[in-house]
Amino acid sequence: MEGLWQRTADRIRDSLGQVGFETWIGPLNFLGMQGRTATIEAPNRFFRDWVSDRYLELLRQSLSAEVGQTVDVKLTLGLAGSGNLHEPVRRSMSPAHPALAAPTAPRDRHPQLNERYTFGEFVVGSANQFAHAAALAVANQPGVKYNPLFIYGGVGLGKTHLVTAIGHHLWNSGKRKVLFMAAEYFMNELISSLRRDRMGEFKEKFRRVDVLILDDVQFLAGRERTQEEFFHTFNALHSERHQIVLTSDKVPREIPGLEERLRNRFEMGLIADIAPPDLETRVAIVQKKAARENMSLPADVALYIAQNVSSNVRELEGCLTRLAALASMDRAPVTVDFTRQALHDLIRVQDQRPGIEGIQKTVADFFHIRLADLKSKKRTQHIAFCRQVAMYLCRKLTDNSFPVIGEHFGRDHSTVIHAYNLIARRVGNDSAFRMSIEKIERELKVDQRAA
Ligand code: ADP
Ligand code: MG
Repeated sequence: MEGLWQRTADRIRDSLGQVGFETWIGPLNFLGMQGRTATIEAPNRFFRDWVSDRYLELLRQSLSAEVGQTVDVKLTLGLAGSGNLHEPVRRSMSPAHPALAAPTAPRDRHPQLNERYTFGEFVVGSANQFAHAAALAVANQPGVKYNPLFIYGGVGLGKTHLVTAIGHHLWNSGKRKVLFMAAEYFMNELISSLRRDRMGEFKEKFRRVDVLILDDVQFLAGRERTQEEFFHTFNALHSERHQIVLTSDKVPREIPGLEERLRNRFEMGLIADIAPPDLETRVAIVQKKAARENMSLPADVALYIAQNVSSNVRELEGCLTRLAALASMDRAPVTVDFTRQALHDLIRVQDQRPGIEGIQKTVADFFHIRLADLKSKKRTQHIAFCRQVAMYLCRKLTDNSFPVIGEHFGRDHSTVIHAYNLIARRVGNDSAFRMSIEKIERELKVDQRAA
């Protein structure tokens, strides 16, 4: 259940922003689910009323979205806080003011680093082992070898996790000036420093750190002023051999609107990519997350999830969170069937490749003819043409053989081959025609997503 709350909290943080989140949601205590009701404890009456007025709906929606079902939220009062009417709210963990980190923080931990993102929690597989090794090297010898370390890869593949792990490691080993920040936040802070005429402080803050971790630098694309300032920050840190760690969704040279001098800096150290995990790694990730949630997950269920969710680790986790929540609400054993049902909507979205039937329908709609005509023996010129387009797309976009495609149209394979060659040639020669075909392909992608 802890995972459910973590993910819900991440969602809420996205909509409230870091400061609002830390102020109002951070102090709440998720007690658990009973049936379809989540119980959340507020530290005092003031808090409870405030959250209840403003954020109850957000809490409800975010929890429901994670669980995949409507969940009610009950806000209760913590024992300690029941008499405490107007305790001032001064918990701020805004990265802008690390010094203000919760005075009552229970453990000694870095105020900005997500607790879960440690090396220990990171599953290493072929797709990320190079990035992982590079991150470890930097964590062990910051500023020495790979500076900057630049990690890139698609969404939800573990970039933030890995660079946060570097931060934890350094923090725990006594390097206390670890600054972790989203590039977007860097920009916001720059703007506000400019506006308040506090550039001196801004520079000072960034240049005295031992380690600067800037997440999602693709965000700097096209922001000239921010790039300029970051360029100077970078140089100042680099010349002092302070470690810089960057992440991005693309390699530096593919980030549009990134100044060349900054690109050169980004390429100075080590560039490591993270690719989508292979099946074995996905199974291992699912198992590890399940173990962390104290959830016993049969091997066939772990495999089922890993096979059906392949693009992104965040989705993988989402599936597991949902599964854990539903299983405990329904008190049902977690079988493959149960899992299929519980995750049907999440899993279908993963499979974005259209099938033959989908193509037939989309092509018929696109040309405004009836699906039955498309599949019939009718030979009127227009219908025959539409049919050829559909056959061509079936061959191009699916893994089916010519004979199998033929069966779906009641024709033999030679007809499909003929259609394929005809349309392929025309796509090559006629750019207007090619654009129409591309338009159908785009519609197919949209259809799949909406399915
Ligand atoms: P990114 O920053 O690349 O978009 P994140 O680092 O936010 O991705 O990762 C998304 C989620 O997937 C996080 O909850 C993270 O813990 C998890 N995750 C990604 N890769 C791994 C991995 N190799 N092992 C364990 N968890 C992972
Ligand atoms: Mg990230």
